Amino acid sequence: MPSIPAQLEEAARKEREAFEALPTFEELCVSWPLYTELRTTHRRYLSQLRRMEFQFDAHCVGCNDRSTFKFGGSRGGGAGLKSDDDWMLKAGMFDIVMSCQRKGHQYVFSFYYDGAELLKFGQLPSLEDIVGADIAKFRPLLRDGYFAELRRATGLASHGIGIGAFVYLRRIFEKLIHDHHRMLSDDGKAVEKFDRLRMDEKIDALKDVLPPALVRHKAAYGILSVGLHELDEDSCRKHFPVVRAAIIEILEQDLQARERERASAALEAEIAKISENLKGRNTESQPEK
Ligand SMILES: [Zn+2]
Repeated sequence: MPSIPAQLEEAARKEREAFEALPTFEELCVSWPLYTELRTTHRRYLSQLRRMEFQFDAHCVGCNDRSTFKFGGSRGGGAGLKSDDDWMLKAGMFDIVMSCQRKGHQYVFSFYYDGAELLKFGQLPSLEDIVGADIAKFRPLLRDGYFAELRRATGLASHGIGIGAFVYLRRIFEKLIHDHHRMLSDDGKAVEKFDRLRMDEKIDALKDVLPPALVRHKAAYGILSVGLHELDEDSCRKHFPVVRAAIIEILEQDLQARERERASAALEAEIAKISENLKGRNTESQPEK
């Protein structure tokens, strides 16, 4: 039989692992679609959530820039509630109010907990407004109406529509995978029978041009190979944030690559100009010798 300290250590480890398996507070507040349920009775998780003991970075629609959001008010109220050890497991509605640390803009997220399941039922500003502004920079990378589809997907998801939102995401994801394969083909590195591979195999085949985290977690995108008729609202809602995050990650990497190319082209032009000038000066200075 393990000693008591060993047992305690084991319990603490399990508690930490269970905590880490839950969505981050940032995901829960900012990117979870409305009417998504989360089954949990994790005391530390629920207590930190309900007491707003966390912070996250997100796009602030008031500042039109990224900002850190924190709880800014007083934690008073609920007299007597916190003296009950199980207060965080009590059923009830609660709002999470977070303030932008630049200018105090407020974001509000509403939840209902029934003692076993946590349900997000409200959010202001809307998910579409928060992330819609944040993704504006990707517009040049998503042509032919795909950018509008990315916004629409987010809008639908924020209203709890699972399959509809997911189908848009899937189209965008497939387009990005197709485009990246074309990039390889243009370099003469086309993958044989690419179109017939499963999504996780496609991701693996494109590992040189896709974000490393996406490639590492390729198994998570198995859902993208499932037939449309097999999808249900619940699993679509559940997979929405991770597929959306993958799309953003790919776009982010492409945008950075594009900016690097632009910067190095500008640098080269600058160097060419300087060396032209130097040449000019050298020939001018010669007669003075
Ligand atoms: Zn702000």
